Amino acid sequence: MDVVKKAAAAAEEEEVHGVVIVGGGLCGLATALALHRKGMGSLVVERSEALRVGGVALNVHANGWRALEELGLADGLRKTANLITSVRMVRQIQGKNQTTVSSPSYSYARCRKEIRCLRRKDVMEALAKSVPAHTIRYGCRIVAVDEDPGTDCTVVIGCDGWNSVVARYVGLGAPSQLPRFIVLGFASYPEGHPFGTEFSQIIADDFAVGRVPINENLLHFFVSRSPSPGRTDVDEDAARKYVLEKVDELPGEVADMVRRCDAASSWTLTKVWYRPPWQVALAGFRRGAVTVAGDAMHAMGPFIGQGGSAGLEDAVVLARSLSSAAAGDGRAPPRQQLRDDAVGAAIDEYVAERRRRATTLCLHSFAIGTLLTTRWLAVKLACVAVLALLGGDSRRDADYDCGRL
Ligand SMILES: Cc1cc2nc3c(=O)[nH]c(=O)nc-3n(C[C@H](O)[C@H](O)[C@H](O)COP(=O)(O)OP(=O)(O)OC[C@H]3O[C@@H](n4cnc5c(N)ncnc54)[C@H](O)[C@@H]3O)c2cc1C
Repeated sequence: MDVVKKAAAAAEEEEVHGVVIVGGGLCGLATALALHRKGMGSLVVERSEALRVGGVALNVHANGWRALEELGLADGLRKTANLITSVRMVRQIQGKNQTTVSSPSYSYARCRKEIRCLRRKDVMEALAKSVPAHTIRYGCRIVAVDEDPGTDCTVVIGCDGWNSVVARYVGLGAPSQLPRFIVLGFASYPEGHPFGTEFSQIIADDFAVGRVPINENLLHFFVSRSPSPGRTDVDEDAARKYVLEKVDELPGEVADMVRRCDAASSWTLTKVWYRPPWQVALAGFRRGAVTVAGDAMHAMGPFIGQGGSAGLEDAVVLARSLSSAAAGDGRAPPRQQLRDDAVGAAIDEYVAERRRRATTLCLHSFAIGTLLTTRWLAVKLACVAVLALLGGDSRRDADYDCGRL
């Protein structure tokens, strides 16, 4: 396998060998760390010039914490964010609060339903610090993957996000998009905030607003709104203004929260990219010794807050499968070579395990995203039916255990 790299500015070519991970985001670094913990080296090629710490925050549910435990990062990251002990959802129909669902407090020790909201920066820095020096090569943008049996680059793993070059090589179609303007940020309360450890969300027909405490002084919030018809292609400033107009109609504490956000910590997203669940259920995720993980495999948008945790699970399962393909008894020394004949079987095992899981998550997220954005009653009813079939409860997603590394 010959990975052809072209830096954005210079069209230089360079050959690299071994396990190559394309993309040094959450999933790419988690995969490098999982392989390292199994005694296998890898090279991560990342197009950015430095570690990417943007993107505000990440809710991590119990399934994600299980994966972080396998990666050896859970204890350190738990110190950075408080445990969420209750979840409150308010459904607003025609401007009136119709239902309020309050989940009972559940303790991590008793039920293992752990949710914490982590700063992405903390997660990315923890991952980057835990992989061996020189694993990540910044400033390398992969533009194509070519097969060349004469070279000894054994495996290529595409962790290059929703717009993945590697996914295209593997044969995956382009992801789809939902128009949804989303503003995310941190709200700072030096005097302490009054919201305790409750995750709270108001969901209406064309907008949603939520807040998640990170600690006593810091909240993560998001406000999302469907664009008005024919206005999906406005620039980022116009999208932000349009979303924040809605905040003025909401309870005063919401407007106060948004006012406490400084520009440096806020982020606007105008389109949500996802792979439709039927594509995830049916697509081929391997071509030779090339495969994909994270959003490159199953971009699902933010609606169930599981994309990042699913990427961490991918990392654990893929490293476990690849290490079983390694020469010897699986406890061989670092930088061991993978046996060519076993690589395909190991990737197939990984794909089969992850396809089932990713299809369910993508279906859940797709149903919620479509419910929030469609104007068609029949489609809304179909989404409600799908959600009912799935159990309608995100705790089921969190019960999943990706197993030991
Ligand atoms: C608004 C929003 C909120 C979300 N909230 C949550 C949440 O609360 N909890 C949760 O679990 N998930 C959440 N998600 C999903 C989560 O952010 C993603 O699933 C996760 O970041 C995907 O990680 P990744 O490593 O697969 O891809 P990315 O994070 O996109 O990383 C891909 C990396 O590949 C690099 N790259 C791309 N192309 C190339 C190339 N050609 N060559 C080299 N490098 C390349 C990029 O620079 C990037 O560093 C949210 C998503 C959104 C959009």
